[in-house]
Amino acid sequence: MSLHPETSAITAGRPEAAPDASLNPPLIFSSTYHAGGPVGYGRYGNESWSALEAAIGELEGGATLSFSSGMAAVSAVFSILPIGAPVVASNQGYSGVMGLLNQFHASGRLEVRFVEITNTEEVINTMKGAALVWLESPTNPCLDVADLPALLTAAKKLGLGVAVDNTFATPLVQKPLAMGADIVMHSVTKFLAGHSDVVLGSLSTNDEALFARLEQARRFNGSVPGPFEAWLALRGIRSFPIRFRAAEINAKELVARLSQHSKVTKVRYPGFGAVISFEVDGTAEDAEKVCESSELITHATSLGGIESLWERRRRWALESPSVPEQLIRLSVGCEHVDDLWKDIEKALKVL
Ligand SMILES: *Cc1c(COP(=O)(O)O)cnc(C)c1O
Repeated sequence: MSLHPETSAITAGRPEAAPDASLNPPLIFSSTYHAGGPVGYGRYGNESWSALEAAIGELEGGATLSFSSGMAAVSAVFSILPIGAPVVASNQGYSGVMGLLNQFHASGRLEVRFVEITNTEEVINTMKGAALVWLESPTNPCLDVADLPALLTAAKKLGLGVAVDNTFATPLVQKPLAMGADIVMHSVTKFLAGHSDVVLGSLSTNDEALFARLEQARRFNGSVPGPFEAWLALRGIRSFPIRFRAAEINAKELVARLSQHSKVTKVRYPGFGAVISFEVDGTAEDAEKVCESSELITHATSLGGIESLWERRRRWALESPSVPEQLIRLSVGCEHVDDLWKDIEKALKVL
């Protein structure tokens, strides 16, 4: 039976029903197993990972591997590319991925072709001869949206591999594997786990040979998740659809209110999801002061948690210089929208 994501999030990754079987998967702490089975060792498999992988797999529609972080999942993908392989990637995206790609490009490990992701024609023209297209949409933190159907169609015509970072949109908004992508990646740390208490990543694919290579990369790189983190993430996934939708309703209301505020010069929002980036009328220090002045919204990095967080992105040295100095990224949580707005209004008064 094909289920809606709201249902899969609740039903997937549970043990088989049997008298007195537990509803929830057990938390397995074991570095090794009795000999003779298909798993054998704690770096090769764990029941607590498998339950999480089953749930993400059902949401994304592909076989899934969990990793010790989103960056570990990203690194596994790049690690299976040959030396010097040409990769097409957005010139603006998650700072960690940008940093990694810049380093790989500088060292000759990969030949990275950075593109303006919203310029579909430019991206397609740059694809020829590439090995992989790395797409993040919407981008972190500028919230640029790529034309995924057009880019995937073009890439498939050229026979290129496509990986999509689906952290911001989540499978509630788009399912890249169904659209033709080869790999979908998550920073599970964010919306899926959703409680700002774990760092985890995942890769999903429908290509068996690719799955085997990525699993081998996880074994060799040793980038395996902790069982407790996997267990917590699955617990978080149970409420991911309702958290995401509640936060999205808040975000839409805050976008409307921010757009009317005299101290806000620009609001970026892709029309879905719970992350808003906005620019304030002032300097970098002014934007810092705004972030420091909130009482309800936590001044911290990260996103996708049940609690609202904000920060000035350029406070990080790794963040792209194309991101405006006075840009604040707000991850909207599930608090009451009027409480959030009161806090934002008060904080903006420092300007
Ligand atoms: C956070 C993030 C990552 C990295 O994930 P970690 O779990 O922090 O390693 C990758 N891509 C996007 C879009 C992110 O927001």
